[in-house]
This record gives sequence, structure tokens and C-alpha cells, in this order.
Amino acid sequence: MATRKILLKGEKALNSHCRPVTEFNDRLHTLLDDMKETLVQSGGVGLAAPQVGVLRRIVIVLETNVENEGDEYMIELINPEIIFEEGEQTGPEGCLSLPGKYGIVSRPDRVRVRAQDRNGNSFEVEGEHLTARCFCHELDHLEGVLFTERAERMLTPEELEQD
Ligand code: ZN
Repeated sequence: MATRKILLKGEKALNSHCRPVTEFNDRLHTLLDDMKETLVQSGGVGLAAPQVGVLRRIVIVLETNVENEGDEYMIELINPEIIFEEGEQTGPEGCLSLPGKYGIVSRPDRVRVRAQDRNGNSFEVEGEHLTARCFCHELDHLEGVLFTERAERMLTPEELEQD
């Protein structure tokens, strides 16, 4: 495993539509393992393939709705699509490709995603609260959409200092 460089806003890959994954081979597995290591090292909660320069429909999401922090685990989503959503949450959101920037974004509070695993098997997974936000944010990356396009407003430096 190796970490990969996270691209920052302004790089063309972050505004690109990503293509579906069609081959579930060693190359995909290496990419997934690298993305997981990169996410762990970054301290983020989600990472999409275009953020490491790969224009394919692949995201990693950290499931944080667990009892103990040590129980957190990563969900690999290949060719994901949201098939159900419910409720609404409005709150601060950030992105590893825009370090230090946060905006107020409204997202569904619960979503169900259909995806494939690293071997091509279909599955469904549900997320709520932060995990639902993360699913939506990462899937937006696959369409080349950054949270700044969805934010009602960005947090000011004064607001950021209060945290
Ligand atoms: Zn992001």
C-alpha cells in the first residue's frame, strides 16, 4: 500500500465526470488500498478517486456512526448510486481538496446507496447523519461537483476560529 497525492481545487480532475469501473482486477484493488491508506493519513472521512487523479466511479467512506472510535470502518463503493434518501441535515462541510475551508451545506439525513464491492458483487448500504452527508459529498465528486457549489455560504475565518 502507498499513499497518493490528494489533488487540490483548481485541478481539472476535480471538475470531471468519472467513468464506471468495468474491470475488478488487481489494479483496482491496489487503488482501493492506496485510497484507504491515504484517507487514514489525511484524517478525513471520505475520499473519491478523482481526488487522487483517477477518473473512475470509486469512493471510500468512513463509517463513524459506531459506539467506539476504534470500531470505525471503511466502506468501499464502486459505481455507487443513491437509490433512496430521507430527511434533511444542514451543517458545516469540508473537503480534503479544499483544506481549511468549510461551508454550510444541506444534505439528506439518511441515504441508501447501491454499489459494487471490489470483486464486482452488488450490495446496498445505508448511512445516516455524517455518513449520509459523506456519501452525498463523495458521490458529487464523481460528477465533478465540489461542496462549494452546494454551500449556502462559506464559514468566515472568525467562525472557524471558534471551533
Ligand atoms: Zn471532497
